[in-house]
Amino acid sequence: MQAMVLQSIGTDLQFTDMPDRLPGPGQIRVKVAACGVCRTDLHVVDGELPNPVLPIIPGHEIVGRIDRLGSGVEDLRSGERVGIPWLGHTCGICPYCRAQRENLCDAPLFTGFTRDGGFATAVIADARYAFPLGDTGDDAALAPLLCAGLIGWRSLGIAGDGKNLGLYGFGAAAHIVAQVARWQGKSVFAFTRPGDIANQAFAKSLGAVWAGGSDEAPPEKLDAAIIFATLGELVPLALKSVRKAGRVVCAGIHMSDIPSFAYDLLWEERQLLSVANLTRQDGLDFLRLVPEIGIITKITRYALRNANTALADLRAGRFEGAAVLIP
Ligand SMILES: [Zn+2]
Ligand SMILES: [Zn+2]
Repeated sequence: MQAMVLQSIGTDLQFTDMPDRLPGPGQIRVKVAACGVCRTDLHVVDGELPNPVLPIIPGHEIVGRIDRLGSGVEDLRSGERVGIPWLGHTCGICPYCRAQRENLCDAPLFTGFTRDGGFATAVIADARYAFPLGDTGDDAALAPLLCAGLIGWRSLGIAGDGKNLGLYGFGAAAHIVAQVARWQGKSVFAFTRPGDIANQAFAKSLGAVWAGGSDEAPPEKLDAAIIFATLGELVPLALKSVRKAGRVVCAGIHMSDIPSFAYDLLWEERQLLSVANLTRQDGLDFLRLVPEIGIITKITRYALRNANTALADLRAGRFEGAAVLIP
């Protein structure tokens, strides 16, 4: 197999030939057809997440077909198309797992961070954390759903039922969430980097009723806002934009420090929350709805070997939607 490997924090991924791996008991080997590039991959490369495991193959938006089953795998078959998400394993016995909150498991494994991921021609996964994807839809177009879509879906649920939804940071996740929110009958207000007219037009093309810079106030008060961007300074801005009892949901795994702000911004029962990881139920719920919602992902394809270019382009905001690696 071939893979793009992170040997040490802050360095380029290295294209590496390595021996094929065999799935252990309860595992599957998946021939990767496409793997999305997520902002979390940048956090992994930059060393912004605690306790990295190195060397590591990043990538946790994996679409591929099973080419080998480990012993004891009964629910999946060879040749079946599956998606492999960020949540790679949970312990099943900690208080969070037992309370149906496996996204907060005390002893988890995360694909592309603490177990090898999909920037490769093949990946070994725990069969219980793979989602059957069926045969409808293009591999590369589906890949961003596995994290950007799933985390967006979970964030949307936590944001609540309010009609006016703000999205701060209009990248891979927001471009999917905007379509889901619109399908749910919500009005989407998109906040981009100030002056990013192209991205604001992109948001409107996906149904946003308003798009502007993150330094602007929306024309109506928001019922909830989801922050996908990694800038802590967006938190007080979002709190300022939501109505009384409105919610602000931080959806990123990493964010710069939140500046201090007047208590008035939180007063009147406004809520500030974060979203962490996903549960398998989130994945099943969301992926079942995808065909009905008719989500169209905007993707830019890169060859596996060009993963470093894809990461650099993501960092610089050089494409709309999501980057996807094709081995
Ligand atoms: Zn657990
Ligand atoms: Zn991700």
